[in-house]
Amino acid sequence: MDRSLLRELPSVDEVARDGRLQGFVVAHSSAVVMDAARSAIDSMRRAIIDGTLRAVSIDSVVDRTLGFLEGLTQASFKRIINASGTVLHTNIGRAVLPEEAIEALKSASVGNVNLEFDLLKGERGERDSHVEGLITRLTGAEAACVVNNNAAGVLIALNTLAEGKQVIISRGELIEIGGSFRLPEIIKKSGCILKEVGTTNRTHRADYTEAVTDATALILKAHTSNYKVKGFTTEVPLKGLVEIGIEKGIPVIEDLGSGSLVDLSVWGLPKEPLVSESIAGGVDVVTFSGDKLLGGPQAGIIAGKKAFIERIRKNPLKRALRAGKLTLSALEAVLRLYLNKERLREAIPTLRHMTRGLNEIEEAAIQARGLIEAALGESFRVGVEAASSVIGGGALPDTELSTWAVSITSGKMSVEGISRLFLSADPAILGRINKDRFLLDLRTIEDTALLVPNIK
Ligand SMILES: *Cc1c(COP(=O)(O)O)cnc(C)c1O
Repeated sequence: MDRSLLRELPSVDEVARDGRLQGFVVAHSSAVVMDAARSAIDSMRRAIIDGTLRAVSIDSVVDRTLGFLEGLTQASFKRIINASGTVLHTNIGRAVLPEEAIEALKSASVGNVNLEFDLLKGERGERDSHVEGLITRLTGAEAACVVNNNAAGVLIALNTLAEGKQVIISRGELIEIGGSFRLPEIIKKSGCILKEVGTTNRTHRADYTEAVTDATALILKAHTSNYKVKGFTTEVPLKGLVEIGIEKGIPVIEDLGSGSLVDLSVWGLPKEPLVSESIAGGVDVVTFSGDKLLGGPQAGIIAGKKAFIERIRKNPLKRALRAGKLTLSALEAVLRLYLNKERLREAIPTLRHMTRGLNEIEEAAIQARGLIEAALGESFRVGVEAASSVIGGGALPDTELSTWAVSITSGKMSVEGISRLFLSADPAILGRINKDRFLLDLRTIEDTALLVPNIK
């Protein structure tokens, strides 16, 4: 270590006076600039002591200070163009909202709204009232309420109806979704006791009926959304569980996960269970996500029999898990679009992307290929190829949708390098790597110009 280098480090004041930092002083205060300068000097002092830094100049300290300031003052949220081929990608915020929901978000953000205010009576209202009527109309349920996500929906439903008691569930349905949602853990955290019945592949009616005792609060059914049990399998359908529930005098709750409000098979997709079918089948309470197949904002929708929904609404946990005005206003707008079945596919991006015609995707891929090739220059090979996309968000796990993608390779750059290049663009572009090619899936891209990377 060269001790004399330590003495060459400038003072915080000296750095903060540098002309290049004055814009930040005006925009963010001198305290912020001094802090960044201090951090820069400290990190350089450590690097000198480690022997990794062998020269110091005021310019290099200012450069590092600018780095800290940019990290602090730039928005952490960055827009991503989803060309990954996964329509509902949890890591990038699942469903893209329809225009109507974006408008509703804007008007709910600019000022105050009648979130919990009854304008006719001029007194306190109920926040779920904005969406409850739409949910009951679209699902056939008697009542409904909304929390922050489906995980919260399952948690509060179990806690309200089964705290301190047993929850019966088939071993084949003890699911984990997206790493952090594990049904056994949610059951435990809701204060309930897990009572597994049956085996991984087969659970029979008698497994349920024999397990019911005085300690049983309810039967839980979970939609195995992100995997399929195939082969030698048996499960008791919801109808059978409802019969057992009535016979034993206990409610049946269903965690539907993606919970579709429309039958996807009318567009040639495999059928996902419909919320209305669960309700018609006699389920007492069903929970599902707002930002999966529904195509709305992150939310957990709880629908079912009025007496149970009323109890859930009165649970103090509801106060902790309630949705805010932004969520509720966007959700209301999306649910309203479901009233018009004719326009639905056009109006909701998630449905539009899932059902997009192959010819249209191919045309978009050909167009995007031309734009990208022109932008990247000669060291890249840009082609068009048939590929397959998935729905994601724990829906239709074994369904692959035929699609078209732009493929990019380069003699000068690895596929990982190409992927990083597209991620560094503004907005970032998320594709996927398939063996030796970088692919941009056009299924979810309607404006092909968005795939031309804007590299700073
Ligand atoms: C996705 C999913 C969840 C979690 O829903 P979030 O809205 O992400 O909290 C729970 N259960 C099932 C069956 C799911 O598919």
